[in-house]
Amino acid sequence: MIKLEHIFKWYNIAGARSYVLKDINLTIEQGDFISIMGPSGSGKSTLLNVIGLLDEPDEGKYYFMEEEVLSLKAKKRTAISQANMGYVFQAYHLIDELTVYENIETPLLYKQHGSSERKAIVADLLDRFGIVGKKDLFPAQLSGGQQQIVGIARALAASPKLLLADEPTGNLNSKQGEEVMQLFKQLNDDGVTIIQVTHSEKNAAYSKRILNLLDGQLKKED
Ligand code: ADP
Ligand code: MG
Repeated sequence: MIKLEHIFKWYNIAGARSYVLKDINLTIEQGDFISIMGPSGSGKSTLLNVIGLLDEPDEGKYYFMEEEVLSLKAKKRTAISQANMGYVFQAYHLIDELTVYENIETPLLYKQHGSSERKAIVADLLDRFGIVGKKDLFPAQLSGGQQQIVGIARALAASPKLLLADEPTGNLNSKQGEEVMQLFKQLNDDGVTIIQVTHSEKNAAYSKRILNLLDGQLKKED
C-alpha cells in the first residue's frame, strides 16, 4: 500500500541543514496496524504527515497504492488523500462553528454522495458511536473524550482505507484511551490499515508492528 524510499526532510537553520527525517525506507502492507514511537522531536508527526500527504519531504520517493505521489500536482494529491485517508489528531481539530453532525459530514462533501446518502452515513456513525443525542451540539459543549469520538467518526465518514492518528489518546483519560484503541482494533479487523503515533506502550500493544524513530531515523525492527 505504502512504499517510502530514501525520504529526507530538513529545515535550514542558520545556513545548515537540520534533518527531521533521515533516509526513511519503509514498506507498509494493506491491513497492517502500525505504531510509530520515539522521543519528542524525533520526527514522528512529520513522518505521519508525509505519509498522509499533509507534508512534503525534501527528497525521496513515496508510492501510495503503486502511484508515485510526490511528483503529482497538489490537486491530484488532495484527491488521493480525500478518497483514501482519514485523520485523527491529538487536539481533535474539530470545526468549532459546526455541530457534531456537520463535523462528521464534512469529508463527505468532497465525495459524490447525494444529500440523502450523506444523511444515512452520518446517522449510521452517530448511532455506531453512541452520540445520536449529541448531534446538534458544538465541540465546546463536549468532553475531550466525546470530541475525540466525533473526530474518529469524522475520520471514518468517507470510508478510508488508511487511518492516520497522531497521539489520538493523548488528551484522554485511560478508560477513554482504551475505548479508542479497542475501536481501532475493530476497524483494523474490518480491514482498515492504521498508522498511529503513540507514546504509550499499552496503545502500541494493540498494533501489529512498531516503528521506532530516533533523531529522524528508523531503528532496525525486531
Ligand atoms: P515528534 O512528533 O516526534 O515530536 P515532529 O515531527 O513534530 O516530532 O518534529 C521533528 C523535529 O522537526 C523537531 O525537532 C522540530 O523542532 C522540527 N521542526 C518542525 N517544524 C519545524 C520548522 N518549521 N522549522 C524548524 N524545525 C522544525
Ligand atoms: Mg508529534
